[in-house]
Amino acid sequence: MQINYRSIDEIQAKNDVWVFIPKQDKETTQAQLPAFLDQVLDPKSMIDGLKKEVTVYHNKEVTVHFFYINKANFISVKTAAAEAIYLRHKHAAAVSVSLDAQYMKPYLLEALAEGFWWGAQNLGLHKSESRLEASWGLTVYGNLPLDEGSAALQRGSHTGEILQRIGSLVNEPGNVCTPRFMADFVVKESLTRSIQVQVHDASAIQEKGLWALWNVGKGSSYPPVLIEMDYHPPQATRTIGLVGKGVTFDTGGVSLKDGKNMHYMKSDMGGAAAVIGTILAAADCGLPYRIVGIVPSAENHIDRLAYRPGDVIPSYSGKTIEIINTDAEGRLLLADGISYILKNYKLDHLIDLATLTGSAVQTLGYQGAALFCNDESLADALRQSSAECGEKIWPFPLWEEYQKELESTIADIRHFHNSPLAGAIVAAKFLESFLDGFPSWAHLDIAPVALKETVFSKEKIGTGFGIDLLIRWLTDMHEASR
Ligand SMILES: [Zn+2]
Repeated sequence: MQINYRSIDEIQAKNDVWVFIPKQDKETTQAQLPAFLDQVLDPKSMIDGLKKEVTVYHNKEVTVHFFYINKANFISVKTAAAEAIYLRHKHAAAVSVSLDAQYMKPYLLEALAEGFWWGAQNLGLHKSESRLEASWGLTVYGNLPLDEGSAALQRGSHTGEILQRIGSLVNEPGNVCTPRFMADFVVKESLTRSIQVQVHDASAIQEKGLWALWNVGKGSSYPPVLIEMDYHPPQATRTIGLVGKGVTFDTGGVSLKDGKNMHYMKSDMGGAAAVIGTILAAADCGLPYRIVGIVPSAENHIDRLAYRPGDVIPSYSGKTIEIINTDAEGRLLLADGISYILKNYKLDHLIDLATLTGSAVQTLGYQGAALFCNDESLADALRQSSAECGEKIWPFPLWEEYQKELESTIADIRHFHNSPLAGAIVAAKFLESFLDGFPSWAHLDIAPVALKETVFSKEKIGTGFGIDLLIRWLTDMHEASR
């Protein structure tokens, strides 16, 4: 996809014009636009009326789509851009011209480019007849200095291109996206970037004593892996650690889930996807921080070898863990991932992301992720970046009182409290038990937001939630230090 930036004075009507415009300006729309659109905007030429948030006008020469954006923020512009691409897929046009409204700021242009990539993804990954992809050539017109506008579109394209591929990774079914498939994906994507990757296979996992990861994965015919990524630019001033839950399919194990929405459990690697995508995008954007990513990946399945409720298992930290419910497998992967990264790297901040609990969904619906953090300034920075990029997060407590829910009679700790109350919090307390005093940690329970409904899919699709947020956070940190 080619996205160029031009001055608004150069605009010419071609066969298609998209106008992204704040909703409150709907009445003044015509007054604001260049003269060549006057004729087109004769109300008689309106064909679709106000359909949802889009108005379409056309005459013989040109079709104009108005995309009304309620509140022009990163996420609303990104979504509108994705929908614009989707509309053109339906009409099968190959070349389009888009016009930004005059208010477009650099970060909104970034959102626009990201949304174009996002909307152009191929969702029919396994359809026998693959749909012909349009070769997109888009021109965005605006009134920013050319280099500033182009740079913003370029940044958005970097992230958008990654988001497109990460989206496909999340949408791949469990019989395709296995732990090994994910590792191969990371190795392949890292080859062209300066990212070091090590893939620790089943025997390395046992040799290293990653027993919590091993126990979750040993009941599957697709063996577990631990993926270790290290993006280490020479000018790096800080080291950031990321850990992502990579359960490629979650049956619940012996504590079997009910079947209704189990097909969505292919997305139980949404946290891993965010970690991988963030590191790839950080490398493409040249962010000056060392970023280490750890992805413990396994399939949680039922088998004669599968771990059981009541089992006591060792872990990488040395702590013994009593298993209460085998469907609470994500925190076991994360416990080993967290212990591993803290033992082997000296970090300034550690962030883990996981589709961890139904409890987070019960609390927040599908609107945002739960944030747990033991470092106030890190929490503030993440919330600030969240407000800028529109990926919503909200703070939950880590009060000491919850810790007793994890006391075990037989082992050092139990991993689940077997109660319908405060599930997301108790899961976070379990992870906190593996920090060994590390003072700057954040945990994002992204179960509510790893998938979402869109106008372009029959079912929910992967969002890549966390990539925008973390890239924004890293960029803000970099800009603040200059
Ligand atoms: Zn589970």
